[in-house]
Amino acid sequence: VFNFSAGPATLPVDVLRQAQDELLNWNNQGVSVMEMSHRDPAYVRMAREAEQDLRDLLDVPDDYEVLFLQGGGRGQFSAVPQNIAAPDSTVDYLDTGIWSGFAIREAEKFVAKVNVAGHVKEGVKGKEIQSPDDWQLSDNAAYFHYCPNETVDGIALHDIPNVNAPIVADMSSNILSEPLDVSKFGVIYAGAQKNIGPSGFAIAIVKRDLLGSPQKQVSSIMDYQLQAKDGSMYNTPNTFAWYLAGLVFKWLKVQGGLSEMGRINHEKAQLLYDFIDKSDFYRNTVNPQYRSIMNVPFQLADDKLDAEFLAQAEAAGFKGLKGHRFVGGMRASIYNAMPVAGVKALLSFMADFERSQS
Ligand code: PLP
Repeated sequence: VFNFSAGPATLPVDVLRQAQDELLNWNNQGVSVMEMSHRDPAYVRMAREAEQDLRDLLDVPDDYEVLFLQGGGRGQFSAVPQNIAAPDSTVDYLDTGIWSGFAIREAEKFVAKVNVAGHVKEGVKGKEIQSPDDWQLSDNAAYFHYCPNETVDGIALHDIPNVNAPIVADMSSNILSEPLDVSKFGVIYAGAQKNIGPSGFAIAIVKRDLLGSPQKQVSSIMDYQLQAKDGSMYNTPNTFAWYLAGLVFKWLKVQGGLSEMGRINHEKAQLLYDFIDKSDFYRNTVNPQYRSIMNVPFQLADDKLDAEFLAQAEAAGFKGLKGHRFVGGMRASIYNAMPVAGVKALLSFMADFERSQS
């Protein structure tokens, strides 16, 4: 089976095997890692090693905190305004798709004004993000928020915006997919479940000068400063998810780090988009410049065939290809755990299906 699901988690098989081997007896402790105290020196050592491995992979500068939190991506939708903006402030958001929209609506609860600085629009080459020249930025935004990879829409902003306010990025579905210049960001956050580990867990990489909320009331488990002070163990962390994330980070290092993952991910995406673009049977409606390398939505020219396509795909061992319920169609999610061989096998299935219908 090749799992093209957009989530919750898709994990490398090697990592799952290791977790299986260690499930009953982690680190020669005689118990599962889930049963270890998070204060036990062996667990703490593992947790700190996971942090260091993530720092190594992303080359995180020393003036950033790396936090391991709970509440997934949406938890961060409220953590960000609570931590970075005063109640009477204005914040800028790009609205590039479904997840940006949810982030905007959450931020509206915590600040005086959420200014939507730019949108997605229909261009001659398909859906695209408004050019930065057309963004309506606020003069004194407490931060600028965007989602570089819209998981549902398959739209990506590949260039880091050049704005004055601290940049906050929701990287839930593209973190660790390729090298990244962390120093350009104020906060990077990600729900863990695409490229890191199980759902319900989240990573936040926060520039230290943004710690210390200007809001009087921040819920404690959302408080970046408190979590940083307590080594992300203010409350009991999701110990199993942290452990699995640590295994994924080690797996990524063995694969050759993020430059190698980036090369592989671009190759997988290119294979899919080239095939779709050459076909009259399948199509993708995003301008090539804004296409995601993680989530590739596509439609059949005749949507009456969708159900048949999905049933045959499932029977042939290609799971999770149904598009998000908001947009329909198909979507192939090709996170780090998907090998090139999986994409090649899918393309051969798609070619066979096309032939069988003509
Ligand atoms: N942001 C993006 C880009 C996502 O893809 C998702 C979920 O898939 C979320 C946020 C929400 O994450 P969660 O379901 O962990 O709250």
